[in-house]
Amino acid sequence: MEYETLAVHAGFPEDPHGALGLPIYAVAAYGFKTLEEGAERFATGEGYVYARQKDPTARALEERLKALEGADYAVALASGQAATFAALLALLRQGDEVVAARGLFGQTIGLFGQVLGLMGVRVRYVDPEPDRVREALSPSTRAIFVETLANPALYIPDLEGLASLAEEKGVALIVDNTFGAAGALCRPLRWGAHVVVQSLTKWASGHGSVLGGAVLSRDTALWARYPQFLEKDPRGQVPWEALGGRCYPERVRTLGLSLLGMALSPFHAYLLFQGLETVALRVARMSETARFLAERLQGHPKVKALRYPGLEGDPAHGRARKYLSAFGPMLTLDLGSQEAASRFLRAIPLPKAANLGDARTLLVHPWTTTHSRLPEEGRLQAGVTPGLVRVSVGLEAPEDLLGMFREALEVV
Ligand SMILES: *Cc1c(COP(=O)(O)O)cnc(C)c1O
Repeated sequence: MEYETLAVHAGFPEDPHGALGLPIYAVAAYGFKTLEEGAERFATGEGYVYARQKDPTARALEERLKALEGADYAVALASGQAATFAALLALLRQGDEVVAARGLFGQTIGLFGQVLGLMGVRVRYVDPEPDRVREALSPSTRAIFVETLANPALYIPDLEGLASLAEEKGVALIVDNTFGAAGALCRPLRWGAHVVVQSLTKWASGHGSVLGGAVLSRDTALWARYPQFLEKDPRGQVPWEALGGRCYPERVRTLGLSLLGMALSPFHAYLLFQGLETVALRVARMSETARFLAERLQGHPKVKALRYPGLEGDPAHGRARKYLSAFGPMLTLDLGSQEAASRFLRAIPLPKAANLGDARTLLVHPWTTTHSRLPEEGRLQAGVTPGLVRVSVGLEAPEDLLGMFREALEVV
């Protein structure tokens, strides 16, 4: 079935009352009638025990996400940060290495340096082209980590090339698909990625009202190359032998949810489940509007550079054609200096915020906000210049937005 159909039908659980919506299980613990029933649930992991680990509302969200991303397994977590951490934690041990794309989301870089660093894991940053990644791999590399559309550089990696390299070397390819909008724009698992992580806070939620994240994965024999899946676990079973491809999502659930407690609230799961029903529609409309703005603003005398993957001459255009279903809601304007960006942002009557994927158009100055913790050289490497303004296009009427942009550019 097509995405739009799955988005409104996939994931509904059986309901005894025939509810035509997702019931919210505002419940912490699930009871057992007998000692044997309790023992069975603990032994098999089937059924519900305690909501930190698994609950029916989040399960419905997981089923819907699985259908939308073309995944075999899904685990929902409290935020995108929680998803990234749990996805990696399940594959890493002290002394391991990760090869990551330069120019990742700022808090991902923070997580890698300040948390993985504490755990004795080293992260090497490279341009995420297959040749560069190949050079950076070592016998200790356990994961390659890239984003679908690096922000704000609007760089799209060669997902297929990276996936075949990962397969050849027996290393997991993990893609942060937040910009893939829950599969509405891009489905990296179809291109051979082993794991997708994403922030549902952005386009999946769609209204800037809730935090959430997910780890999605597919069935793969790759896990048989990781020692954590070949050694007996505390239950006395060898995960790869007992569970096959499910050993990975089960480890994500055990570490990220049962033990670290990064659980998604059932209320948030409900809102996200509903948000997914319109994500394809919103992203298609936002992409059309972004293209409209990009076409009309390129070459404007006050705009030094404009990046939008939908423009013929854009460096990301070829890969956007291959990997994305539309050209996306993100564009950037370089106004030449921090002073010019400051005047422009003061003049434009739209919210300035470090968020994305909202129904409203959001603007941000990455140099002084999202990327301000990086040294100047790191910012420039990530494609962040002092005059850069990042735009997450919303659902406003395209002509209204164009008018606001043109007026604000007058004062630059
Ligand atoms: C927002 C974001 C995250 C983090 O997600 P939260 O839900 O805010 O924790 C991770 N990666 C990317 C690309 C993001 O845009």
